[in-house]
Amino acid sequence: MQQKSLDDRIVIASHNPGKVREIAELLQPFGLTVVRADSLGLPEPEETGLTFAANAELKAIAAAVGAGLPALADDSGLVVPALGGAPGVYSARWAGPGKDFGEAMERVRRELGEAADPAASFVCALALAWPDGSCEVFEGRIDGTLVFPARGERGFGYDPIFRPEGERETFGEMEPGRKHAMSHRARAFEQLKHRLSDV
Ligand code: IMP
Repeated sequence: MQQKSLDDRIVIASHNPGKVREIAELLQPFGLTVVRADSLGLPEPEETGLTFAANAELKAIAAAVGAGLPALADDSGLVVPALGGAPGVYSARWAGPGKDFGEAMERVRRELGEAADPAASFVCALALAWPDGSCEVFEGRIDGTLVFPARGERGFGYDPIFRPEGERETFGEMEPGRKHAMSHRARAFEQLKHRLSDV
C-alpha cells in the first residue's frame, strides 16, 4: 500500500454522539483534531454490507472522499454461531426503531432455545479510509457465553447477556473500565494504533 500521511485532522464517520466521544478519547494520544461527519454535513450512508468490515469500510470511504480528509468508522455487533452468526450486522436493527434491547435480548434467548450452544462473540471492525478511496480494516473480537436471564444494568446493547470467557460477571455487571480494557473495540483499536504510529 502506498504511504499515506495524516496531517492533524481526521473525520469520525459516525452520527452517533456516544461512538464519536469514545473514538475521540481513543485518538487523544495521537494529537489529532477530530472532525465529526455531521458537522461537515456529510450524509450517513445506508449500512448495506453483509459483514462488519464491509459496513465499516463503506462508512469510512464515504466520509473520507466526501470530506477530502482521512476518516475512521466502526461497525460492531453480537455474533452467535448457533444462530448462524445472527444478529451480527443486524445487531442494532434487532432492537427495532425504539432501540429496545430488552426485546432484542429476549429474541436471542427465544431463537437459541434451551439446548443450543450458548457461545457468542462481540466483533468490532474499524476502517481507516483516505480521500483517494483506499481503506484498511482492523478487527477485534472477544469470545464468551450468553447467560439468561440478563444480568446487570451497566454498559449498553447486549452487554447484560454476555459473559466474557474466564470472567464471572457479564459486561452489564462489570466495572466499565474493565470492560473497555478487554472489549472487541479495544482490541480493534490496539491494531489501528500500531498503524497510526506508522503514518
Ligand atoms: P452499529 O452502530 O451498526 O455498529 O451497531 C452496533 C450494535 O451492536 C449496537 O447497537 C449494539 O446492539 C451491539 N453492540 C456493539 N458493541 C457492543 C457492546 O460493546 N456491548 C453491547 N452491545 C454491543
